[in-house]
Amino acid sequence: MASRYDFSNQQASVFFLDNSTLTPPRESWPAGLRFDNQLISEVTGIEGGIKAVARPYQYHSNQVRRVERTGIVGPLEADGLVTELDGFALAVLTADCVPVAFSTLGAVGIAHCGWKGIVGGMLSETVKALREMVGDPTARVEAAVGPHICVECYEFEGPSKAEVTGIYGDSPFRTLSSTSHLDLGSLITFELGELGVRIVYADDSCTLETDTLNSFRRDRSELRQTSFVVKGPC
Ligand SMILES: [Zn+2]
Repeated sequence: MASRYDFSNQQASVFFLDNSTLTPPRESWPAGLRFDNQLISEVTGIEGGIKAVARPYQYHSNQVRRVERTGIVGPLEADGLVTELDGFALAVLTADCVPVAFSTLGAVGIAHCGWKGIVGGMLSETVKALREMVGDPTARVEAAVGPHICVECYEFEGPSKAEVTGIYGDSPFRTLSSTSHLDLGSLITFELGELGVRIVYADDSCTLETDTLNSFRRDRSELRQTSFVVKGPC
């Protein structure tokens, strides 16, 4: 396990794992919840406490889904999940993108955030869905940020750069060895600040520089690590 953080605003925990998972093709994506907790118990040592694991089919969108006892509500294509249920782990897979977990009294959420998702409003959509779920548009939300590619390792040039500067200007960029680098962490911090969400924990491990973590930019493989948040005791 890369790291674990227990939120203090309610009983909820986030786990940033250093496992390796292959994303199955869309046609064989599990339709409901995955009840195979073997991976979770092997990697975290948790026996019980987690009843099911929900994972969306990620596509760098700003779509957030609710998780109920029957599974993910709506299409599986999404990059964020929220739930009020105890023991239902909400998971995303990443390898350089940023996993961000949320806790507010009565609900938890998780988001998969690459530059495209952040620009598209992934964080605000997830926080909005959480606050709607608990029926309080100003509910206090805490966030935990997981391992991702650091600014030194993340060269970012070309047409995509204009999409980011169009919204944020040059502030999330740094010029290193005369190439432009994007600081995903600073984008997350800025967005969450605008939403009034406090970052209470950050695992700043760089995926590209950490051998035990998967990095798409380093490996060009389909392997990802799992991050999940769960409400209730575990
Ligand atoms: Zn790095």
